[in-house]
Amino acid sequence: MPLLSVRDLHVEYRIPDMGISIKALRGVNLDVEEGDSLAIVGESGSGKSTLALAILRMLKPPTVVKGSVLINGVDVLKLSEDEFNRRFRWSFISIVPQASQNSLNPTMRVRDHFIDTARYHGVDEHEALRRAFEMLEFVKLNPVRVLNLYPHQLSGGMKQRVLIALAMFLNPKIVIMDEPTSALDVVTQLEILKLVKSINRDLKTTVIFITHDISIVPLVSSKVAVMYNGIVVESGPMRDVLANPLHPYTKALIEATPSLSESIDRIKPIPGEPPSPLEEIRGCQFWPRCPRVMDVCRVEEPPDININGRVVKCHLYR
Ligand code: SF4
Repeated sequence: MPLLSVRDLHVEYRIPDMGISIKALRGVNLDVEEGDSLAIVGESGSGKSTLALAILRMLKPPTVVKGSVLINGVDVLKLSEDEFNRRFRWSFISIVPQASQNSLNPTMRVRDHFIDTARYHGVDEHEALRRAFEMLEFVKLNPVRVLNLYPHQLSGGMKQRVLIALAMFLNPKIVIMDEPTSALDVVTQLEILKLVKSINRDLKTTVIFITHDISIVPLVSSKVAVMYNGIVVESGPMRDVLANPLHPYTKALIEATPSLSESIDRIKPIPGEPPSPLEEIRGCQFWPRCPRVMDVCRVEEPPDININGRVVKCHLYR
């Protein structure tokens, strides 16, 4: 049984005052096994962060969430909020959210963030500080100094390390990291990526790493899922997917990614524009930009097709 299994997950953001409804997820299927390091990659607006928020039950009405999210076999979308918080949040699954640099409370010292989180889960202050020491050392910060600092006294890289330590502090089985390096300089980015790798390798935590940058995927993950306009279009072992992409979107994304070792002339921008969130596309979501589009693509949504341990959503492989 997968540790996390997402089935036919739909999310619709509704703005009742304006009579607008935006489909952010359109039937996502995804399995994550214990010990996996999975990268979820796609352009902005593809639904990566929405997927993370839906898994963590962080989307509230009027947003509509349908489908199932099985964590360790339990459909967490069916639990009360209190039960989910008590059984799963932080202690089984945690998140380093996007723009997390702003998610520390500026009026609280670092130590109080740890104590607050621990108190909710019935962990006493002494144990909370012992664990905070351990995790801050793991993320290569000096606990004696950092625990007494306020967020404004930390650099961007230090804040990100504190947030990773907080996410790991109650020893969760799964941690989701949503673009944890996007606001950092390249040197700090590399240090954080090494840390992410070490969380998976040394602490044996299952890591889901969300990024728009496919070039960093080999540094942090052994599996990859590619998202486009609210669906997973291809998933499988990272090396196979990057070396031999099956879905035309995956191929286009790789060809559009700059590399330091190759000529800039090699880069091919993806034709067309990402779809507007208000646009309804029938059939395959990628057909307006796909170089291999066929008649069937414009009318029929492709199914998930299994090919040698990979899953691809494209009529070319039927
Ligand atoms: Fe292209 Fe058709 Fe495959 Fe969609 S289903 S990616 S339009 S070939």
